[in-house]
Amino acid sequence: MVTSPTIPSHTKARVLIIGATGFIGKFVTEASLLTAHPTYLLLRPPPLVPSKDAIVKTFQEKGAMIIHGVINNKDFVEKILKEHEIDIVISAIGAKSLLDQLILVEAMKSVKTIKRFLASEFGHDVDRADPVEPGLTMYKEKQLVRRVVEQSGVPYTNICCNSIASWPYYDNCHPSQLPPPLDQLQIYGHGNVKGIIKQNQSLLFHTFLLNKFLLVDGIDIGKFTMKVIDDVRTINKNVHFRPSKNCYSINELASLWEMKIGRTIPRVTISEDDLLAAAAENCIPQSIVASFTHDIFIKGCQVNFSIDGVDDVEISTLYPDEEFRSLEDCYEDFAHMIEDNIHKGEHKITGTKSVVEAVPIMASCG
Ligand code: NDP
Repeated sequence: MVTSPTIPSHTKARVLIIGATGFIGKFVTEASLLTAHPTYLLLRPPPLVPSKDAIVKTFQEKGAMIIHGVINNKDFVEKILKEHEIDIVISAIGAKSLLDQLILVEAMKSVKTIKRFLASEFGHDVDRADPVEPGLTMYKEKQLVRRVVEQSGVPYTNICCNSIASWPYYDNCHPSQLPPPLDQLQIYGHGNVKGIIKQNQSLLFHTFLLNKFLLVDGIDIGKFTMKVIDDVRTINKNVHFRPSKNCYSINELASLWEMKIGRTIPRVTISEDDLLAAAAENCIPQSIVASFTHDIFIKGCQVNFSIDGVDDVEISTLYPDEEFRSLEDCYEDFAHMIEDNIHKGEHKITGTKSVVEAVPIMASCG
């Protein structure tokens, strides 16, 4: 059994973050340091690639404490959890290493002092979403981690933050690093809200939303993650991020981008069959993203269920006075990014190819 999950109000919980140099981990680490939690980062032993080394130095300047090691060594993890009196463990480990978390859970179970564990989720509710392969395999791994955590007795919270605010490229894992396209806008399925009238009100609600999806700024993913870590209302819950003003259809998102850059862009349809074919190519990671894109835009996996179960809580109901950053503001930033790139001569207003190629995806196809 674990100790009481409450943390005395006069002390800040001591947080260990795994995956701090990753895409999501950076947002969480920034937020932890901002909220003045004693923040420890577990990093793989050096050398780090120069870009990650620079990120770590910035975190250290802001007060982060560095521990070198890996999570798939139970004795080592137990030792550091005890030595640094860690209260809360947040994992933002990448998709390739999800099952390494099973050893981490064993270590947390042994030390019996961890008051909250946040596994590497940060996306859809994996017990409800239903992607085709190869995304399904990744979700089965996340489901397995959920079951092992539930059985461990370590208090947990699953962050279901949906999509990161950006253009939803169907072949890019980290789309917020790219501005939306300038040459053509790919619209998945028919791209609009379905207007089918059903008798049942809740069915009507979900049918209405079916072709919408939720986009949350990365800074808000970090900020709200840090709010839930020691909130007793989120113990053993799935916390869903569904801010109503960040719920768009892809056609609405396309119009927002056109409004921000002051011109229209041709729209091309990517059909359900196109997405399934991209998933079936089994190129990793693009095909994983294609399978999630299919689940989001064709099946409506972010909005096709209600969250009134005992295991679920919607974040806006917990913190009604806390604003989420709007898509309008995020897209304003992208418009400025394009302007800056044009000034630097890195970008022509006629196309996005050069930008996409600037962030290559490491591909392997099976
Ligand atoms: P990244 O691949 O960007 O980063 C993974 C991090 O984990 C790196 O810091 C890496 O360190 C570290 N790591 C991996 N294995 C180990 C290990 N054994 N021991 C210690 N550290 C390790 O991951 P993402 O940010 O893309 O993914 C994190 C989570 O967020 C995933 O669950 C993913 O599904 C989700 N996600 C959600 C998105 C959304 O839009 N909602 C978008 C992208 C991801 P190193 O640098 O040494 O490799």
